[in-house]
Order: sequence, then C-alpha cells, then structure tokens
Amino acid sequence: MSYFNIDAQAQNTYDAIVIGSGISGGWAAKELTGKGLRTLVLERGRDVRHVTDYPTTNMQPWEFEHRNQLKRDIREANPIVSKCYAFYEGTEQFFVKDAEHPYVQEKPFDWIRGYQVGGKSLLWARQTQRWSDFDFQGPARDGFAVDWPIRYADIAPWYSYVERFAGITGNKDGLATLPDGEFLPPHEWNCVEKHFQKKIATRYKDRHVIMGRAAHITQPQPIHFQQGRAQCQHRTICERGCPFGGYFSSNASTIPWAAKTGKMTLRPHSTVHSIIYDEAKGRATGVRVVDTQTKQMHEFYARIIFLNAAALNSNLILLNSTSHRFPNGLGNDSGVLGKYVAFHNYRAGISAEYDGDLDSTTDGRRPNGPYIPRFRNVEKQETNFLRGYAAGFSAGRSSRTDQSGVGADLKESLLNPKLGGWYVGSHMMGETIPKETNYVALDPTLKDPYGIPQLKIAIVYDDNDDKMVKDYQEQLTEMFTEAGFKNIRVRDDHRNPGLDIHEMGGARMGKDPKSSILNKWNQVHHCKNVFVTDGACMTSTSTQNPSLTYMALTARAADYAVKGLKKGLV
Ligand SMILES: Cc1cc2nc3c(=O)[nH]c(=O)nc-3n(C[C@H](O)[C@H](O)[C@H](O)COP(=O)(O)OP(=O)(O)OC[C@H]3O[C@@H](n4cnc5c(N)ncnc54)[C@H](O)[C@@H]3O)c2cc1C
Ligand code: SF4
Repeated sequence: MSYFNIDAQAQNTYDAIVIGSGISGGWAAKELTGKGLRTLVLERGRDVRHVTDYPTTNMQPWEFEHRNQLKRDIREANPIVSKCYAFYEGTEQFFVKDAEHPYVQEKPFDWIRGYQVGGKSLLWARQTQRWSDFDFQGPARDGFAVDWPIRYADIAPWYSYVERFAGITGNKDGLATLPDGEFLPPHEWNCVEKHFQKKIATRYKDRHVIMGRAAHITQPQPIHFQQGRAQCQHRTICERGCPFGGYFSSNASTIPWAAKTGKMTLRPHSTVHSIIYDEAKGRATGVRVVDTQTKQMHEFYARIIFLNAAALNSNLILLNSTSHRFPNGLGNDSGVLGKYVAFHNYRAGISAEYDGDLDSTTDGRRPNGPYIPRFRNVEKQETNFLRGYAAGFSAGRSSRTDQSGVGADLKESLLNPKLGGWYVGSHMMGETIPKETNYVALDPTLKDPYGIPQLKIAIVYDDNDDKMVKDYQEQLTEMFTEAGFKNIRVRDDHRNPGLDIHEMGGARMGKDPKSSILNKWNQVHHCKNVFVTDGACMTSTSTQNPSLTYMALTARAADYAVKGLKKGLV
C-alpha cells in the first residue's frame, strides 16, 4: 500500500503547477515549459481546442436559430452576464452563466467570467497598451495605495518580448504617457476620425488621438506562422474564436506552443481548492484540486506554483489556503489580502453627429478603433479628482433604408439603401483608487458545489469616480464641439463595478511585506515559491487595458522563478 502511495505521489509531481489557462496562465505555461520545466496546467473549465471547438466561428446570422440574438429566457435567467456586450447567441458557450458559479454581492458587482481552457482570452476586445512611469509612479506621487516596487524600465523588455510573440498592431506615436511597442502595421483611419485627430492636435498640445493598439496580426511574422496563426481578416466576430488565429488567445497561441514542448500536462475540469503549505519546509508543496466531473479531491505537487486564476479567483484561492502558519490565507501576514481591489470606471460615454465629409464613407471592417490616451493630471495635479481617464473614439456612417412603399419600389430601396449622416462616439476608461474598503473575502457559510467557500464582493465607486465622470463629459463635450460635431449627448449609465471586466488587486505588489502580499518579482513575500501574475498583483490600475501588463509580468516572473530555482533561491 505504501508503495502505491509513493507511486501516486510521484505521478502527481511536476516541476511547476500553473493554476488557470487564460491570458496570464497561458503565458506562464509557455514560459515554464519553454525553460524545460515539466508543468501541470490546472483549469477548472472544459477544454476548448483552437478551431475545433469554435462551433459558431463560420456561421452566418441566418444560420443561428435566433438570428444570433439571445433568447428571452436566457436573458432573464442571466441578468448579470447579459449586460456584457459580447454575450450573444454565437458566444454564450464561452461565458459563465449567472447560476452556474454563484458569489455573494455584498455590494452590486457584475462579475463576468469565462471558465474554460483559454479563459477570457477568447472573449477579450484585444486592446493592448503599455504602462508608462506616469502610471507606475502614480501611487507614490499622488499619495494613495502603496508605491509600485517596479518602474517602466523593469518591465519594458518584457513588453517587447510578449508583443513580438502575441502580435500587436499599432503606430509609433512617440508619447511619453503611452510608450511605443513592437508594432505590426497600424489599422486605417476613416476621414472623420482623421478630422477629429487633426482638430484636437491643432487645439491642444497635451491631447492626442491615436490608432488603437491591439492584439491582431496585421502582417504575420515568422513567429506567428510558427504558431499556426495567420493574418487577421477583419471579420470582427473575434469572440466566437478565430480560425485564422488572427487575434491573440491562449488557445491559438501560448497553450499549443507549450504543448509542443512535450513538457505540459493540461488538466481541464480541475478546480483548485487551495495551495498546500508545508510548515516544516517553509514553502508550498502543491495544490488541492476538485475534479469537477467526479467531485473527488486530488493533490498535485511541484517546486513552484504560478497562480493565474484571474484576479478575484486568485484572491479566493489564497484566502482559502489556510494553515497553522497562515490562518488568514497564504502569505497574509499583513492582513491586506483581498483588500485594495480596484477596477476601471467605464460609466460615461458621449455621442454626436457630424454633417461634414458627406461625399465620403467607410469601407470594410476593422477590429479596432482610435484611442485618446490619458491627458488629465499627467504632469501635475490640475483637477479636483485624483488620476485620469483614457477614452475610445470612433466614427461611422449609417445606412438608411427606406421601408415605405410596396413591390418594385420597396425592392429598389431595400437593395439600394441611402447613406445617413456621420455619427461619432466615445467611452471613458477611468482609473479608480484602490481602497481598503473595496475588498473580497470568503463567505463564512455559503459554499459552491465543490465545497469551496463562495467569494463575497464589496466594491463601490466613490466621489473621485463621480468627479471623473463629470470631467470626462465636460472635456469630451469641449473636444467634440471643437471638431464641429453636433447634437452632442453625454451619458452616465451608472453601471455596477465589474462590467469593465478589469478587476485588479487584492494581492498587490509592494516593497514592504507589512502592506503588500507580493514582492517586485510577483513572488509571495512569505512563501517564495508561489507567484501571482494575474490582475490580483496590481498595485494600482492606471487607465490602460491591463492584459498586456499581465503577460509581461508573467514572462518576467517566470524567468526569475526558473533562474531562482536553479540557484536555490526560490
Ligand atoms: C468582453 C471582454 C472584453 C475585454 N477586453 C479587454 C481588452 O480589450 N483589453 C484587455 O487588456 N483586457 C480585456 N478584457 C479583460 C481580459 O480578458 C482579462 O484581463 C484577461 O483575460 C485576464 O487574464 P487572466 O489570465 O488573469 O484571467 P482569464 O483569462 O480569465 O483566465 C483565468 C482562468 O483561470 C481559470 N480558473 C479560475 N478559477 C480557477 C480555479 N479555482 N482552479 C483552476 N482554474 C481556475 C478560469 O476558468 C480561466 O480559464 C476583456 C474581457 C472581456 C470578457
Ligand atoms: S477580425 Fe481578425 S481576429 Fe477577429 S475573427 Fe476576424 S480574422 Fe479573426
């Protein structure tokens, strides 16, 4: 019998374990296997193989039973996930339905999740901007949260490293606030977007309208062909899964790359319950996993563990990893675990019309759009709120179909719709301030079907966010007026936190173990062989979309971890 146990333990032992196979977990798997480590990737959801498991990717609208719309009973049964613009008949298989994985909303929070191999990398909008030192220095300069233990120079080479592999389109704009990257050719502008760009450049020295930077292959390089990926065809139905691998996802890119090394074992249907801490060794030795098909508990062992379950689930796993040494969660001597969660404020938007350029129109589609980098409180504090916001921008021309009449006249007008005017729009992406009172914790009584405590979420906007919304509306109104746009309408949809899908923090990085969970290498201060490299590690949120930074931090931490293992430091 003891032989059997030893064999079982040996069979379940790897060099590294990665928890989660989404954007950050895929990168951890690629880097660790690429450096020769036998790596177990644990994923709570089902497997989704590139191309084979994208059932709707080539379907035309008329081939869907409900014309690609959500059925009313699905919408009514899923009031939370139905708020996400990307949840529709062609994508519903990649989203967690409301009742499937319950959580406790101490304050209203719309938690949008994708539990499958690839995680939310199948669903994301692929916007990828680097952070600058204005972002990394923000907390120290403006006196909130704690200082980041890294600066732009620490991560810049890793941005380049992940950008080259993932394939990022963009233009070298030379802005200090938004460092340039390793770009593939940028997407094209339409004439009204160009008009807006010119007007803003003429009127403001510190405001810029640039083409968005996005994880789309506009000109494949040898490294992309080696991944089996090809040029993006501008189909703009990316979140159904892309058979060309035209956008970056774990499924198209990092996971198959890791599999090719022969060093990866991918175990879907495996929900990590907690991390095992060995008091005698003073380190983590493995993880407890519930097989979601058999509901049996298993243990797996490794020398290092990468936690990549996405920000809030990584908090849950750490909080649930209790031991005599860590009664309040792994590495939580400081008591800050689960606290200082922050997100992005997407509440406000603006729309208008433009009556110029009526001799021009748009042609084709583009899975991207112009972007206005943050311009408020950059060099100095100039408003009554802290930090700032970036904004998306787009312009299009509608077609107007005259549906009056009958017979040949009606047919004629349906076949030859007239063009309407130009419409323009923008939405804000604001930085929120991490606060102790915005937290997640384990519910003391409620459990999920696998016996794991449910996550209790208490996250709210504050006065700073309200002021920022107002400022965005005023500044964008001024900029739209400057460009000659008419019928300007601003909105604040008062959406719940969560719908931005950029939740961050809870296990933040910091210099001081008394006020942070992770050090500058994303290593748990008090448990050096556990690394957290998803959104949970974020000390502050900046205004940029976060996933590129998770990729770069993951590659950087994996490099450090493997070197550290060899030197006996991890
Ligand atoms: C519609 C939409 C648009 C978005 N647009 C953008 C954008 O333009 N730019 C941007 O930067 N970001 C965007 N995001 C956010 C982006 O998807 C996330 O930041 C990113 O996926 C986070 O990577 P991750 O590895 O932390 O988590 P995920 O990609 O969510 O992966 C986490 C994985 O862990 C698994 N997991 C969770 N718990 C456990 C457990 N206990 N045990 C085992 N496995 C577990 C999950 O099933 C999942 O597969 C968008 C998201 C959505 C949904
Ligand atoms: S736009 Fe590009 S990435 Fe998106 S589905 Fe089409 S080809 Fe694929």
